[in-house]
Amino acid sequence: MKIAVSACLLGYNCKYDGGNNYNQRVYNLMDKHIICPICPEVYGGLTTPRSPSEIQMSDKEILNLLNKEGKDVTENFVLGANKALELCKLKDIKVAILKSKSPSCGCGIIYDGSFTGKLISGDGVTAKLFKENGIKIYNENDEWKLE
Ligand code: SF4
Repeated sequence: MKIAVSACLLGYNCKYDGGNNYNQRVYNLMDKHIICPICPEVYGGLTTPRSPSEIQMSDKEILNLLNKEGKDVTENFVLGANKALELCKLKDIKVAILKSKSPSCGCGIIYDGSFTGKLISGDGVTAKLFKENGIKIYNENDEWKLE
């Protein structure tokens, strides 16, 4: 099947610090599936490396996204999420495996916006948009149900 995958999990150096989050189990999916790497933060025009960003939440609603220097990068995140969704629609992709905890790709748990490593419940901007558009989301540690 066709699966959108956070590019950093496949070894692309698109993470904020210029590195990646290579995951062998995710990489092995290429043996049996058609993999489409995506990086919403890069699609949104952010450079690599870049300052890390976190979602600022209020009552489970996203207020905005700030990077560690206090710059508002909400537009970049929203643009990147929409481009990633557009790509999934173009390629008829209905499943995605996304990097946990990321303010873009995180599903279910994200950092709390304080840049102190604290985690809260919530979805990254892209994960949320994918869910709203019927794309099934897993993270790299889940038991995937792929047919
Ligand atoms: Fe990885 Fe997603 Fe962050 Fe890109 S936006 S580096 S794919 S977690």
